[in-house]
Amino acid sequence: MSPPRLRITIRGAVQGVGFRPFVWRLAHELGLSGHVRNQGGCVVIEAEGDRASELRARLHREQPPAARVEAIGWESIPARDEIGFIIETSGCGSAPAVVPDMATCADCLRDVLDPASRFHRYPFTNCTRCGPRYSISERTPYDRANTTMAAFSMCAACRTEYADPADRRFHAQPTACPACGPRLSLCDSTGAAIEADDVIGHAAAALGGGKIVALKGLGGFQLLVDATNTAAITRLRDLKRRPHKPLAVMVRDLEAARPLAHINDLEAALLKSPVAPIVLLKSQPGALPDGIAPDLLEVGLMLPTTPLHHLLLRAVDLPLVCTSGNLRDEPICTDNAEVVARLGRIADLFVMHDRPIRRAVDDSVARVIEDAPQVLRLARGYAPLTLPMPGSPALATGAHLKNSLAVRVGGRAILSQHIGDLENTLAIDAMRATAGDLQDFFGIVPARVSCDLHPDYVSTHFAQDTGRPVAPVQHHVAHALACMAEHGLQRLLAVVWDGTGLGPDGTIWGGEFLLMHGASWQRAAHLRPFHLPGGDVAARDACRALAGLRGESGLNAPVCTSAGRLFDGFAALLGLCGAQTYEGQAAMRLEAAAAPGVDAAYDLPLVDGVLDWWPMLEAASAENVPRVAAAKFQNALVEGIVAVAREVGESTVALTGGCFQNRYLTERTVGRLRSAGFRPYWHQRIPPNDGGISFGQAAAAGSFACAPAGCGRRPLRNRVLEPGRRR
Ligand SMILES: [Zn+2]
Ligand SMILES: [Zn+2]
Repeated sequence: MSPPRLRITIRGAVQGVGFRPFVWRLAHELGLSGHVRNQGGCVVIEAEGDRASELRARLHREQPPAARVEAIGWESIPARDEIGFIIETSGCGSAPAVVPDMATCADCLRDVLDPASRFHRYPFTNCTRCGPRYSISERTPYDRANTTMAAFSMCAACRTEYADPADRRFHAQPTACPACGPRLSLCDSTGAAIEADDVIGHAAAALGGGKIVALKGLGGFQLLVDATNTAAITRLRDLKRRPHKPLAVMVRDLEAARPLAHINDLEAALLKSPVAPIVLLKSQPGALPDGIAPDLLEVGLMLPTTPLHHLLLRAVDLPLVCTSGNLRDEPICTDNAEVVARLGRIADLFVMHDRPIRRAVDDSVARVIEDAPQVLRLARGYAPLTLPMPGSPALATGAHLKNSLAVRVGGRAILSQHIGDLENTLAIDAMRATAGDLQDFFGIVPARVSCDLHPDYVSTHFAQDTGRPVAPVQHHVAHALACMAEHGLQRLLAVVWDGTGLGPDGTIWGGEFLLMHGASWQRAAHLRPFHLPGGDVAARDACRALAGLRGESGLNAPVCTSAGRLFDGFAALLGLCGAQTYEGQAAMRLEAAAAPGVDAAYDLPLVDGVLDWWPMLEAASAENVPRVAAAKFQNALVEGIVAVAREVGESTVALTGGCFQNRYLTERTVGRLRSAGFRPYWHQRIPPNDGGISFGQAAAAGSFACAPAGCGRRPLRNRVLEPGRRR
């Protein structure tokens, strides 16, 4: 009898990550014949020999570090009695995958630090397990000629490795070395070139002397200063006009991170993962200056992402502030020619190189919550993110703040990188370019375009300008659908708490409980409505939210049920924050202020589907210790969520919306829901904030029109009650 031949199909992020050479090595080890090839978005193997089923078993256990396998299917096919096992490089098929950028792997770092290696101290060293991907891709398929590495022709040594299936640089498209690859350069704040034999040493000396250095990273320029130098931090904040927003800090390795923050095993793994995001960690008091993350208990740390960062961090041997190279509200800079014009006012020194960045990809932000990673800003290393989602081809244009885009095609949805707030032309241009990218990469012509219900959002206008049928999706419904699609859930109670989103009744929603059944939904409960003096301006001044809670109305004071503004109002009441210099500042301070170990909660009655915060406002006004009040306020919100869940009686509860970036609120709500017998879900791979809106819109595309399926239980229009009056 002939030995068995298996056809094995592997789905997921499996292309451009060294999967085929990995399979090749396994097949040789097991003495199999056959081939491996990329086909569509999959890797397809035909393997023949007595140990073919062993190959299948090992693929379940062993994978290249950067691969993300979603499914492995297999079938028996007729034997062919071939000799040898080969990697088929042609005929890649349609719908190719685009892989995220990956931080330097341990093997490449070893090469860079090894004086005997030809990659010694080379800042652009990479292999099939690490290096740039999405940020340098011009078009598909993912081949060197289709990346910004096309201009660099490989030397003989690089070409030999590239052609050797046994080498980890086999088909590493961006591979390069000092003889043939990109080079560093240096210039001052006017753009004048600085001659230096040791660019990294020069930059390290400047950083040690308190200077601000702009460095061209993987997905864009970053601004760096010594994170232990208070004067340098203050100067960077002044020049960037960013007085309080927390700054991320890069450290040379995990050992250097440990004195700065509490780091558990999962957090350490996240820091060291190929994504290498900024990880939010509980800070060690006093380990870094207060100016890094004023009034907060957490600090964002990250490890070096490229050999350039590794070499610089080792040369300077200090933790470095590492923040996006942009002006406030603008997208991150990527271009050598424009960076001096945009950042020359801020940076003293520019570390550049001649490998172009094709698209801006910011540093990602993540954390560990309830023993699992959760992404808060989906960018470098995560984007583009692919998850299963059935439906016809569609484009979703996202929200106004923290904009991202999504496309749905071929049983999958693809979420773009974080684009930013659509508050200026550069950000809007970036959104348009990303929409073009996604459609080109995935070869889709959207049958429809979904967008927010708000008629004045730039993203809504953009959807209308495509000329395709437009499907508006209510903001909080999109949040709920994003969480459902992420977890494959059909029926649940969605607790959707955030700043603002237009409701179908024309008022501003934001403290919502939506009963979801597939694409149908019903507003089951909400926070007690209040006026928001100044409208959108109230988001920047917590005192206005407080005035609204106290009953102030007026001409420009729209009605809202916003949980975000409720947090703002209470922060102002407790003297924690007035004017806000970044989104979420008041709520983050209130979270940080909560006294640990306080389990008491204010009274938050649920009457006829409305959670009434008025008694809690009165009680908190009389509280002597703001830290106790901050805890009792948040505990009350947790109990309020449990009370609504009990009344609605749906066993599955999803927590979504920007308010669930609050760790205290999220962890406590999850715990209380579980002990009350509910199954809580929260976001892990999709951001809980507006960065996840486009994903929910994609899930909605074509499922229903903008009008809710049934809101009959209660009148839609929010009505503001007199202060103090109970419902
Ligand atoms: Zn590598
Ligand atoms: Zn070379």
